[in-house]
Amino acid sequence: MYNPKSLKAEEFIDHQEILDTLAFADEHKNDREMIEQILEKAAQYKGLTHREASVLLACEDEELNQKVCQLAEQIKKDFYGNRIVMFAPLYLSNYCINGCTYCPYHMKNKHIARKKLTQDEIRAEVIALQDMGHKRLAIEAGEDPKNNPIEYILESIRTIYSIHHKNGDIRRVNVNIAATTVENYRKLKEAGIGTYILFQETYHKESYEALHPTGPKHDYAYHTEAMDRAMEGGIDDVGLGVLFGLEMYRYEFAGLLMHAEHLEAVQGVGPHTISVPRIKHADDIDPNAFDNSVPDDMFAKIIACIRVAVPYTGMIISTRESEKVRAMALRLGISQISGGSRTSVGGYTEEERPHDTEQFDVSDQRTLDEVVKWLMEDDFIPSFCTACYRAGRTGDRFMQLCKSRQILNCCHPNALMTLQEYLEDYASPETKTVGEKLIQAELNNIPNEKVRTKTIEYLGKIRSGSERDFRF
Ligand code: SAM
Repeated sequence: MYNPKSLKAEEFIDHQEILDTLAFADEHKNDREMIEQILEKAAQYKGLTHREASVLLACEDEELNQKVCQLAEQIKKDFYGNRIVMFAPLYLSNYCINGCTYCPYHMKNKHIARKKLTQDEIRAEVIALQDMGHKRLAIEAGEDPKNNPIEYILESIRTIYSIHHKNGDIRRVNVNIAATTVENYRKLKEAGIGTYILFQETYHKESYEALHPTGPKHDYAYHTEAMDRAMEGGIDDVGLGVLFGLEMYRYEFAGLLMHAEHLEAVQGVGPHTISVPRIKHADDIDPNAFDNSVPDDMFAKIIACIRVAVPYTGMIISTRESEKVRAMALRLGISQISGGSRTSVGGYTEEERPHDTEQFDVSDQRTLDEVVKWLMEDDFIPSFCTACYRAGRTGDRFMQLCKSRQILNCCHPNALMTLQEYLEDYASPETKTVGEKLIQAELNNIPNEKVRTKTIEYLGKIRSGSERDFRF
């Protein structure tokens, strides 16, 4: 029986409730009156239920679909402004004992080179990332208790935070590792991680079990209940996601929102972020072998519908997607993107992009500097800000900031100051010219005069090179 407050995976992601939701959505996909009512509710920025959002996703009326996209754009602007948070993935190890059929790190893949970074190698990778200008990382590892035990992950986090090369600094480490125990989540929390990210891959239990035939990840309930354990362990920023292409996107969409509703109902706070990865070609993996691929226009609609359904949740898109798709996604709701990414273990210290240990092909192969310049030319502010969690604004405290609309007096100046650091320390001359102009113009959008004056003072200090890491 469906129960969003239950702690059992099969009750808060109830299969029958998803089927009923899809039937309800089909029944009402041309129900103009209902769709307009749902849009009115969404326009109050209070979010939608999985059923309501599923009706929007199913809607076939061109004009109403346009309205969904317009509303998504408006919500994006009102809550997140034009700031885009930047990050990079750091692959620590591709040893893995799971059998995920879509992932090249699966245990039976004998022709992929296996590699696990030593602490010295991590140091070199982090210096390379700092020299690009990154301040925020997402660490990634396969699941292998022997090769990648929690102690290895914790030691790696300590190493990452300890490195300060020139003006470089990694100020937030998010973690994307396999589902684990409350005790291990507590250790991750103590190590000072930002968000704990775990993609569900698919919410469809039967497909999940078939796609993960062997290894600890086979256990659907253990995987699906991981976020509750993470929160029990004290981590209050968690990141959800599904790997689009594995199952029917409408099923995944409903499941994803039910998961968010469950976290809100039980933990009092919804997911901090939602990622929207799509399956990609990789060594040993042909994406065409998975017959639920999502075309670009539907992918855009999924992003817009997530944006209107959970307005307070950040949305992430990676370099799995091309420049063109990322441009569309940014407009419709994405608030965080990776740049200059290498998805291979040890890839950042190699001159040429290595492919032998790569997790998936990267579509957007531009450098971070190119991505930063591209964003600014489109009037986005690339932000290297990590202030919230360092100031203790996590979980519901972050949501409060969002809901009280204080973001413009806080996130906006923080974005400008961290962008200024980037321009001083890492940008090419062309990017710096574009950025300086943007910062000058954007200063006028800080509503509070005192905050604006302080920001101007801090920007001056950053330019003169005397100080770094200011934040509100
Ligand atoms: N191993 C960890 C786990 O089991 O959750 C997480 C790290 S894994 C490196 C990060 C994510 O990459 C996976 O959760 C999966 O969604 C995604 N991924 C795996 N194979 C992929 C592929 N062929 N194309 C795109 N994304 C893929």
